[in-house]
Amino acid sequence: MSSPAPSTDQRGGDPQSAKSRLVLDAARRAATYIDGCRDRGVFPTRQAVSDLARFPRDLAREPVPAHEVLAMLDEVGSPATVVSTAGRYFGYVNGGTDPVAAAAAVLVGAWDQNVALPVMSPVAAHLDELAARWSCQLLGLPDTAVAAFCSGATIANLTGILAARDALLHRAGWSVERRGLAGAPALRVVASAEIHASVVKALRAAGFGADQIERAPTDDRGRVLVDRFPAVDDRTVVLLQAGNVDTGHSDPFDQLIPVVRDRGGWVHVDGAFGLWAAASETQRHLVAGVESADSWATDAHKWLNAPYDSGIAICRDPEDLRRAVASHAAYLSTDAERAPAHLGLQMSQRARGAEVWAILAGRGRRGVADLVDSLCAHATRMAALLAAGGARVLVPTVLNQVLVRFDDDETTDAVIAAVQADRTCWVAGTEWHGHRAMRVSVCDAATTVTDIEIAAAAILRCRRALDVT
Ligand SMILES: *Cc1c(COP(=O)(O)O)cnc(C)c1O
Repeated sequence: MSSPAPSTDQRGGDPQSAKSRLVLDAARRAATYIDGCRDRGVFPTRQAVSDLARFPRDLAREPVPAHEVLAMLDEVGSPATVVSTAGRYFGYVNGGTDPVAAAAAVLVGAWDQNVALPVMSPVAAHLDELAARWSCQLLGLPDTAVAAFCSGATIANLTGILAARDALLHRAGWSVERRGLAGAPALRVVASAEIHASVVKALRAAGFGADQIERAPTDDRGRVLVDRFPAVDDRTVVLLQAGNVDTGHSDPFDQLIPVVRDRGGWVHVDGAFGLWAAASETQRHLVAGVESADSWATDAHKWLNAPYDSGIAICRDPEDLRRAVASHAAYLSTDAERAPAHLGLQMSQRARGAEVWAILAGRGRRGVADLVDSLCAHATRMAALLAAGGARVLVPTVLNQVLVRFDDDETTDAVIAAVQADRTCWVAGTEWHGHRAMRVSVCDAATTVTDIEIAAAAILRCRRALDVT
């Protein structure tokens, strides 16, 4: 038989369809963007932001050709981006984009696969399963655990909390699926006083208000204090964290989790970025014992540098997850198979697992460990350089978070504002135990030692400039 014909558009005989020309144009523009953004300021110029007014405010009455839409997106949009993928963005724990994942996203976008059910996309389902299993292995979590991709750690936290709620009530003889929550036995919620705002939001969505949360006191690094931890029972959901968003420190899992589980309680761990410490031999000790929890939330779009949005909800016992989130319509039944629609809150969903697969397939175990180690080393170096230049490091630097302060609240805020205006790098401010602080989150895989040195020098230059003016 003859080989397949060269790529001809079946309808018109055009060697390249309009659709593929458009994708090539987008890829070319993306490549130009990637090569150019290293040479410009991290935050867009004021001009670029005010030029956003060039996007017409009113919806067009008639269709506009696709290539014109793409051109406008690039010409007006690209200069107004925050460059979070070129090594010098340290604001929030956002993460950059692994090159292979950015490239895979182009292909996966063309595929347009719905990973809800395996029958909708064999390839998306297969890669989803591999990426989920590899993630659990890298994080040192139990073989029995099931992982499901979702939009981010907020939804992964909600998923874990729903699994916890419904499992504890199930053990108490109450089916939330049939009877709902009104009249159900009361559950307690004990959370670290430092728990992330997204967990409080997730609790609210699961039916627990802020006043119902018992806050477990924490130490000066943001870790739960074991000797002041409330006594719990088999109706208690406990929320701990791997990686405090300001300090990077984790709760003492090996001292807390066994006690809670012995008493029949449930431990959920928010490890949006910190859980990845487990993938490194040298950092693993920071989250020792985390594998004995009941559920975990993490992100692939943070430390792993997957494209947005990509969270992972993980549950020790798959049955507990299914009880809380599986749907039962007959046309969706896929009993024997792993179906993401039955492992999370979303039904239709893009093939996030395929992008994560690309990252993990490319890096392997060693590459992920090296990524964790390198961002930790960069953070340590940043802290040392800032300290040498007169900053006070507020908390011993672990993982990828650096928390510093300059003189007083006013000076600290002034330095942060100056750094943001300078655009060499970007850092955010925060409040730590009543004081203003600068938070430097090292989470872009593209960051190099040189980036750290250039950024530290820029921060210290901004500090010194305050003395002159
Ligand atoms: C970022 C973060 C979250 C929220 O994650 P999203 O992916 O933005 O929803 C939750 N907890 C911690 C500790 C985080 O750093």
